[in-house]
Amino acid sequence: TPAVELDGIRLRYGNHLALKDVSLELAAGEVMAMIGPSGSGKSSLLRCINLLERPESGILRVFGQSVPLEREIAAKELAQLRRKVGMVFQSFNLFPHLPVLRNITLPQERVLKRSRDEAEARARELLERVGLGDKADAYPGKLSGGQQQRVAIARALAMDPRVLLFDEPTSALDPELGIEVLAVMRDLAETGVTMMVVTHEIHFAADVADRIVVMADGQILEQGDPDQVLTDP
Ligand code: ADP
Ligand code: ADP
Repeated sequence: TPAVELDGIRLRYGNHLALKDVSLELAAGEVMAMIGPSGSGKSSLLRCINLLERPESGILRVFGQSVPLEREIAAKELAQLRRKVGMVFQSFNLFPHLPVLRNITLPQERVLKRSRDEAEARARELLERVGLGDKADAYPGKLSGGQQQRVAIARALAMDPRVLLFDEPTSALDPELGIEVLAVMRDLAETGVTMMVVTHEIHFAADVADRIVVMADGQILEQGDPDQVLTDP
């Protein structure tokens, strides 16, 4: 079963058709990079997968389970979907008034009903993994943007998602801070995390992605192997 299947996804903002019947499959274990000009619908497509946007038609399946688009989805169903589909945003979205450790334990306790101890153990393990083992007690505002984004990645991973979506995770960062984040993402890719990444980082896409999807004007223009896609005229 594919991790994500999109079939004929159409999304409209008012009069503007942002996605024009897009069909796409993300295999389990695959790392997909999505590139294309600003406004081409990359972020919208990503956001449809966890219903941050609601397509007006099409079929969406996540690990074989179809996600209802034609009716209002129940809160419980939405929560289940978002447990499976983690998301990392451009703007980190950390709680500024909570220390790093608490940012990562809180959703585990609230959503997964993990005990405080269990959640803390997992959080510390993930902070090590993203190179921030010494920042558990820091407040997000004291960290660099690259560190904050790595905390956001640790928080997403703490929920044990089956697929992780990244929406331009480095575009708010200075290049040298972006490199830290890309290194963590590269590590995730190598350990078999299923990922879909909207990015302008062509080098990352070329080196790390199994497949590159090029969007233009609400449609998929091209997709394939990085070598093939990036060497085309
Ligand atoms: P990309 O990620 O490729 O830059 P987006 O998915 O953000 O593209 O946007 C696709 C199109 O939809 C653009 O024309 C954008 O202006 C429009 N759009 C995106 N979000 C909204 C919104 N919330 N309301 C209205 N239009 C939007
Ligand atoms: P709203 O109606 O306010 O947009 P949503 O229920 O769509 O509320 O989302 C609530 C919040 O949860 C948003 O701020 C969004 O950024 C965040 N969110 C949505 N999906 C995910 C996800 N898969 N992982 C992490 N955060 C998410």
